[in-house]
Amino acid sequence: MKIERKQSVVLVPCPYQGHLTPMLQLGSILYSQGFSVIVAHTQYNAPNYSNYPQFVFHSMDDGFQVIDISFPSLENLYSMNENCKVHLRDYLVTMMEEVGNELACIVYDNVMFFVDDVATQLKVPTIVLSTFSAAFTHSMITIFPQPEKYFPFEDSQLLDPLPDLHPLRYKDVPFFVINNTVPEAALEFHRAICDIGSSVATIWNTMQDLESSMLLRLQEHYKVPFFPIGPFHKMVPLASSTSLLEEDNSCIEWLDRQAPNSVLYVSLGSLATIDDKELIETAWGLANSEQPFLWVIRPGSISGFQCAEALPDGFEEMIGERGRIVKWAPQKQVLAHPAIGGFYTHCGWNSMLESISEQVPMICRPIIADQLVNARYLTQIYKVGIELEVIERTVIEKTIMKLMLSEEGKDVKKRVVDMKQNIVAAMQIGGTSQKNLKDLIDFISVLPSRLPPPTPVVGAIMSSNHTSSKCIRES
Ligand code: UDP
Repeated sequence: MKIERKQSVVLVPCPYQGHLTPMLQLGSILYSQGFSVIVAHTQYNAPNYSNYPQFVFHSMDDGFQVIDISFPSLENLYSMNENCKVHLRDYLVTMMEEVGNELACIVYDNVMFFVDDVATQLKVPTIVLSTFSAAFTHSMITIFPQPEKYFPFEDSQLLDPLPDLHPLRYKDVPFFVINNTVPEAALEFHRAICDIGSSVATIWNTMQDLESSMLLRLQEHYKVPFFPIGPFHKMVPLASSTSLLEEDNSCIEWLDRQAPNSVLYVSLGSLATIDDKELIETAWGLANSEQPFLWVIRPGSISGFQCAEALPDGFEEMIGERGRIVKWAPQKQVLAHPAIGGFYTHCGWNSMLESISEQVPMICRPIIADQLVNARYLTQIYKVGIELEVIERTVIEKTIMKLMLSEEGKDVKKRVVDMKQNIVAAMQIGGTSQKNLKDLIDFISVLPSRLPPPTPVVGAIMSSNHTSSKCIRES
């Protein structure tokens, strides 16, 4: 039966895997609720159109044909914001002549902050999508007003608590830290991504039950309605691939041959890089633990090397059938496989949500930014992860054994099983994510098109039910 589509929504994703994925998933959610979905994307890391025949795509000239922007440096991110401005504006002007009042709003990734200027000029309402945890955003907006309270710090303070930011330590400062301080340029950039401009609401790929106290604090700061409707990958009615790299599906057959809960999945996400020394320590830690493992070594993820050639000589032969190394895995399928017993992760927000959703306990090896905050919440608040304290083969080996074989590991597993149940509850009819989604759809449906954004409403959405919501384990 043909659905009569409601208004159109324009989505502007940030073109890195951990950002593109949730925006495309949000597009599928909105499409399933009757909206037409238009994706205005950069040429760099353009999504695969054939996976989304139901969307309209518009490619913006990002000016990056000759520059390598595979790493999102501040310079690259600012250039992207600058270069796309005119293209988005011209496109929207033409589109609005065609669809008129059918354009409900623009939803943009907060890293693509240029959208606010364009939308304000054209008087189109915007909604910001945060692809980060609420805890990470909270840590940033707590530090911004008085950075001098935090930086510079002494080496001796690394394990001390960060003021007002329990459970974070100085070691977990979620910005680029150089000489125990954060350069003003980095603070400035993060202020830009935390500034929602004239947006009328924010959407979060998180669950109200999981991050309720952080979301409430953020809502007091932002003073617009909040819609935590995650985890998106579980809210999507029909999942299409969002992967920018080719997934090696052969690892699923290998997993089929492994015992239940026996395999450690190892992946540091789509952007993180480590040096060859860490690669070698990890390899020996995995080998000496004698646990089966599936290890993603992404091309370009080992500084100075193409891919896995920095592994110890003969490593793969020595491991034989006990281990499997791939360049890129179908991660959600891997985590859902009954053979997976643990996840050695960099604690990217998508990876963390995907792992909890499949009740997989974690070993936390965060590298930068939000990963440091996520890791602290995993190990100290939710207690579904074990911190890898030192990158050294014997420590890696012991941490793997602790997670996979010890009584402590069993307790971690029990807690992640409980957490998964809370996610399931949030997604059921009457659950918080479903309810917030319904509120979001109603909210977008009545947005005044092409008018100045309405006066922000304090706590309009979340305050209606946050007091009755069950806080999972946040203290
Ligand atoms: N991913 C994947 N295959 C891999 C490694 C990662 O599909 O081999 C996906 C993973 O499922 C997640 C995304 O890449 O959705 C990584 O996002 P995350 O926020 O965890 O980390 P980031 O890459 O942004 O650091």
